Amino acid sequence: MQDGSQFLCSSVNEKEELFVGAFKIFSAEFKASCGTVEQFLKPTLPEVAIVGRSNVGKSSAINCLVNHKGLAKVGKTPGKTQTINFFEIATNGPRFMLVDLPGYGFAKVPERIRELWGPLIEEYFRTRRNLRGVVVLVDSRRVQESDRAMVEWLMRLRIPVMVVATKADKVTRGHRQAAVRELRVGLGMEEDPLFLSAYTGEGKQMLLDQVRELLTLETSLP
Ligand code: GDP
Repeated sequence: MQDGSQFLCSSVNEKEELFVGAFKIFSAEFKASCGTVEQFLKPTLPEVAIVGRSNVGKSSAINCLVNHKGLAKVGKTPGKTQTINFFEIATNGPRFMLVDLPGYGFAKVPERIRELWGPLIEEYFRTRRNLRGVVVLVDSRRVQESDRAMVEWLMRLRIPVMVVATKADKVTRGHRQAAVRELRVGLGMEEDPLFLSAYTGEGKQMLLDQVRELLTLETSLP
């Protein structure tokens, strides 16, 4: 691990000792929108990234998590803005950066944009020493090949992955077990995904608490 990351880990752990109760977000501030690697913010805070197919409900999930309706733009034209957006998050525990990665796998994205997406994201995952983990959003009703490819890729890079099934309100309680099975098989996972609904708030606190756990992890990046 590099010097900068060690410093971050120790500062997180100090705050950790003071921390009690459920993880709460106090405020979220948009910091930057980056279309090139050169524009990435300096890695001064621990980071958690969030990624998923276009239309999976990523913007809604971010807004729900940070209690801010308009922070991430819901329902924007898929594939138009291929930028990485950084939000600084103040909490009752460690302060961190939430990083909104552009949606993948949308058929209508022009080839030219798809070609730009790969290198930008790849560079982000390969170089962010302060990255503690990635929340991968998948639709709770169907897994696609691109979701599996994303999870496998992150695992190969040895980046901690948390799989979150979105739009949970669309899967009735009676269908939950079957949905969990399908997601696990489709993604080749051993653990159950966490179900989240941006509409009802189901799963929100559990996700926040798991994000907090990610933040306290030592990064496994070389
Ligand atoms: P993004 O493209 O991944 O950022 O997805 P958005 O947040 O823009 O959401 C895409 C669509 O899914 C919108 O029509 C949202 O209203 C809808 N959506 C998002 N989250 C939920 C949810 O938890 N439940 C339901 N039923 N619909 C959702």
